[in-house]
Amino acid sequence: MQCAYRWTFKECPTCLEDNDIAARYCRSCKGELVDPNEKLRIEFKAHKKDPTQIQCDRVLSLQFGTTIARSGRECIKADFVTEYRSFSIWLPKGLDGRPQRRLDQFEAAVAGGQVPQTVTYRKQASGFYETLAFNQPAEQEPQTNENTRGVASVRQHGLQGQPLSV
Ligand SMILES: [Zn+2]
Repeated sequence: MQCAYRWTFKECPTCLEDNDIAARYCRSCKGELVDPNEKLRIEFKAHKKDPTQIQCDRVLSLQFGTTIARSGRECIKADFVTEYRSFSIWLPKGLDGRPQRRLDQFEAAVAGGQVPQTVTYRKQASGFYETLAFNQPAEQEPQTNENTRGVASVRQHGLQGQPLSV
C-alpha cells in the first residue's frame, strides 16, 4: 500500500536520502537520524541541566526564614527543592527598587502559608540564584505522541509482509 510504503522510510534531514525507519545513521551521508520528538527531548534535557537559562520547575519543597547576611543586612533565605535541583535565594530587606519587588513577590507567593506550585528562576553570573516569578506553568518534557506510536506500528506491519533489502 502506498501509505505503508512511505512510512517504511525516514528521510535524512541533511541529504534527503531515504533510510530504513529504524536506522540511526544515514546510509548516504552518515549523519545521525534523530526523530523530531527525540530531538525535542534531548534539547529539553540540555535546557533543564543549565540553570543559567531561565527555568520554570514544580516546587517539591520550600523552607525559608529570616537570617542576617554577611553584610549585616536582614534577609529572607529561602531553600527551594524542585524536580530538577535544590537552590537557595537571599532576599535582602529594606532596599528599594528591584530587591524590594523580589521580596514582595516572594511574600505574596507564600502568603497564608501556601507553597507556590512552580518557581521561575535562573542562576546569575555571580553564582547566586534569583527568582523571577511564581506559579507560572511548569515546563514539560516533550512526550512521545500518538503520531509517533502510529508510525512504529505501521513499520512493524510493513516489515512482516515485505522485508526491506539492506
Ligand atoms: Zn544523509
